[in-house]
Amino acid sequence: MQEARNLPNSGTDLTNLRSLTHGQLLATLSELGQPAFRAKQIESWIWEKGATSFDQMTNLPKNLRAQLAEQYTLGGVKQVAKQVSEDGSRKYLLQYEDGTTVECVGMPSGNKLAVCVSSQAGCAMGCAFCATGAAGLTRSLTSSEIYDQVMHVRNDFGERVTSVVLMGQGEPFNNYDASLEAMRKINSADGLGVGARHITVSTCGIIPAIKRFANEPEQYTLAISLHSAVQRTRNALMPGVRKFSLMHLYEVMGEYVDKTGRRPTYEYALIRGVNDTEDELGALCDFCRDNLAHVNIIKLNEVKGSRFQPSSDARAGEFVRRLANVGVEATIRQSRGQDIDAACGQLKQRLGR
Ligand code: SAH
Ligand code: SF4
Repeated sequence: MQEARNLPNSGTDLTNLRSLTHGQLLATLSELGQPAFRAKQIESWIWEKGATSFDQMTNLPKNLRAQLAEQYTLGGVKQVAKQVSEDGSRKYLLQYEDGTTVECVGMPSGNKLAVCVSSQAGCAMGCAFCATGAAGLTRSLTSSEIYDQVMHVRNDFGERVTSVVLMGQGEPFNNYDASLEAMRKINSADGLGVGARHITVSTCGIIPAIKRFANEPEQYTLAISLHSAVQRTRNALMPGVRKFSLMHLYEVMGEYVDKTGRRPTYEYALIRGVNDTEDELGALCDFCRDNLAHVNIIKLNEVKGSRFQPSSDARAGEFVRRLANVGVEATIRQSRGQDIDAACGQLKQRLGR
């Protein structure tokens, strides 16, 4: 399993203050002869208020601000591009200090603001229908790099974030520690204060990580990218998780539900003639019945150069009805930001390509 690296600042020998743990920050402050409560103040500036310079930290003594600025940067992200969809969604291309770029999306509706973030730059899993998968993995993101995407969207909209999904680029369970740490910060009252149930992590089905996730105390929502309950089809669509059989996934998800009592979501992007046949529908019903599943039927978002076509709306409606007939809750998820390629599976590392 890949874990996030703590990236030093490229081009300078200053350290990114955001990469310090609470303990490291306390130690730094004590070396500077400062009381411990300064750590809380600084953390509030970084994580709650999204400060981009030490000068903004007006409740710190001037000399401390100057001392910090000599040793540290505040990191953060640079917006390289932004596109606004007809439906109000905004897609951002953000760049980190080492030049790596990722995309994230803000989706407003009424007084709600949902944010979709990336956990890695690119992805190693190579799913056949996914634009991110096609480009391969550049690197995993650190927890603050994940967190900063949410902060960036919040600041751009100037609104409170009400939900966050780790459904942008990358496989969060191949970057487990950083993703969890970011989720904790997003959830924390000292951070963005988003309720745990409104924070969703989506995985292609990395079994050891799902087992680990079942032991996390928070009520996060878990989404599994299923896309087929027929082993042969799933192997072809999702080669990166071929080694984890559907049978094993079924068992582990049963344990997850027993342990947590939480309802998992299964993502299913309908692909014409591939996973929308009668056999596939029957297998999906069998996989999902009696296990508290919520199925999200997604119309496949077209990815340029892909051989896959979305199924019809009628077929999607039929999937929902037939799942309901066997007692499985299912909904059709409306894609947002399709006109700007901001929908699921359309995120790449550059805008406009
Ligand atoms: N790697 C994780 C999270 C990122 S992908 C995962 O796979 O779950 C986010 C969601 O977009 C997943 O459910 C993924 O299966 C879905 N997705 C990928 N490509 C898609 C496409 N072309 N159309 C619709 N959904 C897609
Ligand atoms: Fe990676 Fe998820 Fe895309 Fe598969 S669907 S390639 S796991 S980002």
